[in-house]
Amino acid sequence: MRSRGVTARVPGKVNLQLSVGPLGDDGYHEVTTVFQAISLFDDVSISTGESGSGIILSITGQTSGGVPADNSNLAVKAAELMVKKYELSNDLAIKLKKEIPVAGGMAGGSADAAGVIVCLDSLFDLGLSRDVMESIGSQIGADVPFSISGGVAIGTGRGDQITPALYKGNYNWVLALSGQGLSTPSVYQECDRLREGLSIAAPVVSEQLMQALRAGDAKALGKALTNELQPAACSLRPALRLVLDVGVDYGALGGIVSGSGPTVAFLVSDDDHAMDLTVALSGSGVVSSVVRANGPAHGARIIESF
Ligand code: ATP
Repeated sequence: MRSRGVTARVPGKVNLQLSVGPLGDDGYHEVTTVFQAISLFDDVSISTGESGSGIILSITGQTSGGVPADNSNLAVKAAELMVKKYELSNDLAIKLKKEIPVAGGMAGGSADAAGVIVCLDSLFDLGLSRDVMESIGSQIGADVPFSISGGVAIGTGRGDQITPALYKGNYNWVLALSGQGLSTPSVYQECDRLREGLSIAAPVVSEQLMQALRAGDAKALGKALTNELQPAACSLRPALRLVLDVGVDYGALGGIVSGSGPTVAFLVSDDDHAMDLTVALSGSGVVSSVVRANGPAHGARIIESF
């Protein structure tokens, strides 16, 4: 059989807002979040007709270190789910080319799962709507539906119920990366520990943030950035406070830990400002690397058939 395949490009994300409700009886927290997809991408390629039988995974790219190559990889989980649900051949070779930081609060694993769903839809001509693909994605992880939709969106429930948000403009980001990731469950646990004895309200979307997005006002957006997991991420990784301070000192419009961290995302006004902050952070000795990105970026989409 002749092999054929497709490649999907999928963005990473920052959370412009992350509000965390109380711990539910099911062990999960209800969240309200506002995602923005940014221009750091993983490329996911899938071909059929290579393995004979069974899913083969290979991983390359700048951020491939530490990514599991077995069936705990979210890309494999997504493929297994799609194979079962649509009775597809499991003769699949999956290649991940990673640029999104791993365990960095930027939904890298979710991006790969999203890429697999979009690739298999295309490869097997399933004709699935975005809504259906997002609902399949939510069975793999809370961030997968947004990785499919991209742009700017409000996420409720566990962050997996996605509503596109109105926005204007394009935003410049400087991302301070850490050499070592933070585990999302441990950051939530730390959040619960820090909040012990407090009464926590149900999370709601920030009107200030939505207004800034609708106006395309980067300065106002910078002031409206919030992340209720930030105290927990900083408690587990105190150096993050130093990173945030460097951003403030160099006039970032706003800075937040992205998601559960440890990536810190700084919103800046323009390219020159991005360059200044990049140099300052690189020389600060408190970050392992610095990358620039802009957003919003498109969601998972096919970029190549071969
Ligand atoms: P989120 O922002 O969705 O909480 P994250 O960006 O902090 O996630 P990921 O990059 O998705 O974190 O990685 C979290 C863990 O998931 C990794 O430490 C790794 O063990 C595991 N993992 C499974 N599949 C993948 C994948 N395809 N890419 C990266 N990590 C993966």
